[in-house]
Amino acid sequence: MTDKRIGVVGSGIAGLMCGQRLKEAGHSVFLLDKGRRSGGRMSTRNKESWQWDHGAQYFTVRDDRFASYVDTWKKNGVVIEWFDLFPGQASEKTEARYLGVNGMNSIPKNLSSGLNIHQSMCVDTIDYKKSTWNLVMKSGEVFTCEELVLTPPLPQVVNLLKESNLFNQLTDSSKLASVEYEKGLSLMLVLDKPSLIPPPGCLKLDNGLVSWIADNSQKEGFPNQNCITVHASPKYADDTWDEGSNRVAEAMIQSIEPLLGANVVDWHIHRWLYAFAKNPLKSSFYRDTNMHLTIAGDAFISSRVESAALSGLSAAESLIQSLK
Ligand SMILES: Cc1cc2nc3c(=O)[nH]c(=O)nc-3n(C[C@H](O)[C@H](O)[C@H](O)COP(=O)(O)OP(=O)(O)OC[C@H]3O[C@@H](n4cnc5c(N)ncnc54)[C@H](O)[C@@H]3O)c2cc1C
Repeated sequence: MTDKRIGVVGSGIAGLMCGQRLKEAGHSVFLLDKGRRSGGRMSTRNKESWQWDHGAQYFTVRDDRFASYVDTWKKNGVVIEWFDLFPGQASEKTEARYLGVNGMNSIPKNLSSGLNIHQSMCVDTIDYKKSTWNLVMKSGEVFTCEELVLTPPLPQVVNLLKESNLFNQLTDSSKLASVEYEKGLSLMLVLDKPSLIPPPGCLKLDNGLVSWIADNSQKEGFPNQNCITVHASPKYADDTWDEGSNRVAEAMIQSIEPLLGANVVDWHIHRWLYAFAKNPLKSSFYRDTNMHLTIAGDAFISSRVESAALSGLSAAESLIQSLK
């Protein structure tokens, strides 16, 4: 343990796993996130009594390090197994799919416990001088630290580094700039009666517009409010990025009408500029020792909840070693 402060930008699963591991090792760590709540793409949207998971829908576990966290979450009622085989896809291999009880956000909420997190803090520029990082917020506030960990989607990290005139000082900068993300679009519906989506309450689709539909009312801990999440296919999200929401929602609803079997009484759209990394890097995180800068998140290994978590964890382990 040292007296060096570690600043982590982003409190999605990567930032939170990193922050918790550093804190556990006795380091002084703070997190900054532009959102009002932690979780990033593992978010649960509430409006009146309605509730939807509108980012990640479930996660899988393939690595023992992550499995030990998931076991604790299971014991504490934070996560539960949802299903192990996609409905109607008997040829697929079975694999447990977990969801957060009462919403995917229950996991980041649980991981936030005891961490020093500053929400609604959008990092605007960063500067490294005299062995100190100065992080300037859009609001004008300034935070300082000696080690910096950046976990927003990689293109946002690259932009931040470029706008701060630091990008060209990094080793392997072209590798970082090579990662591209797919756009995403989540349509959240409220129905006037239960949907016709069969148990366990989700279907993978391929109708050109929609790739996924889930009935949140069938998920553990959700209110019985007939709230449906519909994800556009990446191509449709991209093609309609600049189109009006009314037209997009109408077309998507029409394409899934037989599965709804009910009237839509309310809807909302959320567009994700950075949904999934198309070409993630092969390493689990990036570190520039001279700059005291670490980068983690789902742009490393694969664009999934588990990989993002492991990226944050591996970044923390590496920092712990180098600060010894
Ligand atoms: C629609 C959708 C569906 C998905 N479905 C699945 C699924 O079913 N299963 C699965 O495993 N994965 C799924 N994913 C992918 C999964 O959600 C991500 O891989 C994972 O959550 C990424 O975590 P992260 O911590 O790397 O990034 P994020 O969750 O994006 O966290 C980054 C954080 O950085 C913050 N931030 C960004 N810029 C700044 C700034 N300048 N200042 C301060 N804070 C900043 C953001 O607010 C955010 O909280 C899905 C993603 C989407 C969008």
